[in-house]
Amino acid sequence: MDVPLRDSVPLSERQRLVRESIRDICADYDDAYWRERAATGEYPTDFVDDLAEAGWFGVLVPEAYGGAGMATTETVVMMEEIAANGGGFAAAQAVHGAVYTSVPLVEYASESLKEELLPAVAAGETRIQAFGLTEPNAGSESTAIETRARREGDEYVVDGEKIWTSRVDESDHLLLVARTTPREAVEKATRGISLFLVDLADARDQGAIELDPIEKTASEFVHSYSVHIDGLRVPADRLVGEEGRGFYHVLDGLNEERLVIAAECLGLGELALETAVEYAGEREVFGGPIGRNQAVQHPLAEAYARLRAARGETYRGAEAAATGVDRERLGAYANAAKYLAADAAFEAADAAVQTHGGFGVAREYDVERYFREARLTRLVPVTQELALNFLGENALGLPRSY
Ligand SMILES: Cc1cc2nc3c(=O)[nH]c(=O)nc-3n(C[C@H](O)[C@H](O)[C@H](O)COP(=O)(O)OP(=O)(O)OC[C@H]3O[C@@H](n4cnc5c(N)ncnc54)[C@H](O)[C@@H]3O)c2cc1C
Repeated sequence: MDVPLRDSVPLSERQRLVRESIRDICADYDDAYWRERAATGEYPTDFVDDLAEAGWFGVLVPEAYGGAGMATTETVVMMEEIAANGGGFAAAQAVHGAVYTSVPLVEYASESLKEELLPAVAAGETRIQAFGLTEPNAGSESTAIETRARREGDEYVVDGEKIWTSRVDESDHLLLVARTTPREAVEKATRGISLFLVDLADARDQGAIELDPIEKTASEFVHSYSVHIDGLRVPADRLVGEEGRGFYHVLDGLNEERLVIAAECLGLGELALETAVEYAGEREVFGGPIGRNQAVQHPLAEAYARLRAARGETYRGAEAAATGVDRERLGAYANAAKYLAADAAFEAADAAVQTHGGFGVAREYDVERYFREARLTRLVPVTQELALNFLGENALGLPRSY
């Protein structure tokens, strides 16, 4: 059943083409495929390869480097469709890094690094899937990172520990955030942080990197790791952008990325809602379909209304990004969209479980998986509280609490 939600915002010709192309690829991967990936924890390599071969990892890479040269207006459609067509938030997360690590590279990498890597990224031959920012003592407070990179001749030597680094097992490179100047020695905590592109094969050859998988209860087939880094030597020409300005380089594309995460939440919510509506129409109890009871119908209608509203904010934000509004205004769109979309996805998934009665927790009906993922969307990549902090401080002008 196709709930008419994905037509709630008019699409441009280009957005429609993106939608059709992604739907074509997703059509080869049915619910059973995703259920099995979740049960075995096996990365969806064939699905990811199909997207890569069709050039989707170069969606944000400029045409001059062999990419599609598209923008947030197209990536919201791409990621929403990937999630909504059966794979949920986890399927979108399986490829999210491949699309988004290209953004700081396009903007800040040296010309030689761009020429070396971007055409291969766009062709799907080189995968840059992993982004290492979070540390055991630095999650929401990301400027508290302690991973240190010291310059030694024409190399940097890196020591530290990252946590929750996702897809590092499926990646050729890791985009790593490290302190090049200690926090005590910089005027503002956001300074003295730098961005490096780490060749993971080289890091393994050096014996300078060790990965410990984190067992988790959502997005089972997208693996996250604790990454121990000990004396890792990174050539100085792998510094991305300016030394000490890495945090600002990361912030640069953050609002656009947050809008795309909102679209991934929406796709999951739509998937849960469609599954629930279909079941509500088929399951007969007390001589009729359960969906005729308003106690069943209203939570689904409410989820529909909330998804529509969140979708409007997300797509308006993507349009605003394309027209080049200032960062504060874009930040208001991005944080409101992410907050609303994660909550809407959660309520849709919760209603979907309830609609299924006891089958709501049976793996073969999928909704329990959507529910676990929807819970995760309230935590990553930014928690709901931190999104509200941004809105309170920047949109409402209230004092900062931290
Ligand atoms: C499955 C998964 C995949 C991930 N993948 C990656 C990845 O690939 N790369 C990467 O770098 N990171 C990744 N992360 C990390 C993720 O970005 C962090 O978990 C997230 O930013 C929250 O940080 P934290 O877990 O340290 O929570 P904390 O910062 O410890 O926060 C704990 C709680 O306190 C609340 N809180 C803290 N400060 C405030 C405040 N000032 N006001 C109100 N509330 C507050 C938070 O909202 C939260 O509810 C991933 C996480 C998960 C779970």
